[in-house]
Amino acid sequence: MFIIWGTRPLTKNFGTTSQALTCRHCNNTSYFNIVSHKIWFTLYFIPIFPIEIERKIECPICEYGYSVKKEQFREILKEEGIGV
Ligand SMILES: [Zn+2]
Repeated sequence: MFIIWGTRPLTKNFGTTSQALTCRHCNNTSYFNIVSHKIWFTLYFIPIFPIEIERKIECPICEYGYSVKKEQFREILKEEGIGV
């Protein structure tokens, strides 16, 4: 019997910031995307559990992302009124 396992990246977009931010990378001012990138362990192509989670706010122009910690990320979502 074959056990088929692997990994799969999934990105979830929670919305955008309500305040315009200036990107340190491209210098444009815009509403940043609030996203989480997860690498899932998959079994028979079904995501079982995340093995890596990266939470970011990303510039929508150059897609440069700023990593934020879990607590910070929760705070941002709370401030923006986004439920998880
Ligand atoms: Zn940028």
